[in-house]
Amino acid sequence: MAAARVGRNAATVRLVAVGKGFPPADLAWAAAAGAADFGENRVQEALPKMAALPGVHWHLIGQLQRNKARAAAGRFRLIHSMDRLELADSLQRAAEAAGAVQAVLLQVSLTGRPGQGGVSPPLVADLLRRVLRHDLLRPVGLMTIAPAVADPEEARPAFATLRALRDRLQAETGVALPELSMGMSHDFEVAVEEGATLVRVGRAIFGDRLAGHATPPPG
Ligand SMILES: *Cc1c(COP(=O)(O)O)cnc(C)c1O
Repeated sequence: MAAARVGRNAATVRLVAVGKGFPPADLAWAAAAGAADFGENRVQEALPKMAALPGVHWHLIGQLQRNKARAAAGRFRLIHSMDRLELADSLQRAAEAAGAVQAVLLQVSLTGRPGQGGVSPPLVADLLRRVLRHDLLRPVGLMTIAPAVADPEEARPAFATLRALRDRLQAETGVALPELSMGMSHDFEVAVEEGATLVRVGRAIFGDRLAGHATPPPG
């Protein structure tokens, strides 16, 4: 697979199964098939699924509103969408209330497209330094949503840019940022070739969200 092609150990890439829009029963067969990490866009949708599906790890991959920070802190193994200082302040207070240390990824916008969140590259270093002043937040890497392109190869520059940005941040700050959350159903192989450690895959596992229903895999 993609990792082997570029000399990477496949064990360094974790699959986050994105089950947004699908009921817990659909997630349960993915868990039975070996999925251990699940991603959700919205806190409110994730909470009942957490209750229905214990024993797996949860990732918040969508934008987090400050008023949902309290419900999120301590419940997600990783929040992929830290992208502004006000959110860091809210999440720090929420982590304190939850008695938790919250791992986060800094979400970077490489498309300049509004609406999906993310800090622009020139501002990432400053956000990282400020997040580090919050003792209950633990930044462990970067996340990006690549531009939606027809040919996955066209997403490669974005993935390479995120990795280069991570390398530079690590060198500048001395903070270890091992995680790179990048790649979705149509481009995760390219993302793995460019160093992804977390791929967020929805449709390729659960089917088309518009169709409304996932079909269990044969066997
Ligand atoms: C929905 C979503 C995914 C999964 O997308 P697919 O195309 O279904 O694989 C990944 N990341 C984010 C942030 C998403 O919102």
